[in-house]
Amino acid sequence: MLITHDTECALSILVELLNTAPEVCGTELLPDVAALDAFVVRQEISEVDSLTDDDLRNVHQLRSRLREVFGTEGTVEAAELVNALVADAGTTPRLTNHDHHGWHIHYFAPHAALHDHLAAELGMSLAFILTAGERERLRRCEAPDCARVFVDLSRNRSRRYCDSRTCGNRLHVAAYRARQRSAEAVPQAEAVAQAEAVTSA
Ligand SMILES: [Zn+2]
Ligand SMILES: [Zn+2]
Repeated sequence: MLITHDTECALSILVELLNTAPEVCGTELLPDVAALDAFVVRQEISEVDSLTDDDLRNVHQLRSRLREVFGTEGTVEAAELVNALVADAGTTPRLTNHDHHGWHIHYFAPHAALHDHLAAELGMSLAFILTAGERERLRRCEAPDCARVFVDLSRNRSRRYCDSRTCGNRLHVAAYRARQRSAEAVPQAEAVAQAEAVTSA
């Protein structure tokens, strides 16, 4: 797949951001400026000035717009959403090698507000997924009680569930049960074969 490490990092921030929404987990995981601040630190988002209530409101709005891209039916629709996001953010691509990172591109304008910063970076990461012809990899978890999103980076695009504890476990449990069933089936077949061997002897 033609996506870079930088894009992968941005996509990971995108997924983390989308999965903080109240419609995903029942509670708002970014309820106040302090939580937003902690998110910025945790995701190592650079060049962020001190945050306000406006930033919080704007990030919540951006989060809903970004989530729409995961619900699109086709690339045309997704591209329109991404174009609008990136245009609103006022992107100014520039090369940088800050903090011992290798040379990479910052799409956000210097000292952009956090929502513009995120719209530029996360919007561009979505743009790269779309230009690689990989919109299908933007997924919603298929577990009936889960609204989390994820980007399926598996080789054969086979991932169906998010990696939350519940859904990741659901997969493991299903695989475990399947293994158990086949493990039970084998000894039974052996027992039958042995019984047959005894009766024929
Ligand atoms: Zn950077
Ligand atoms: Zn899930």
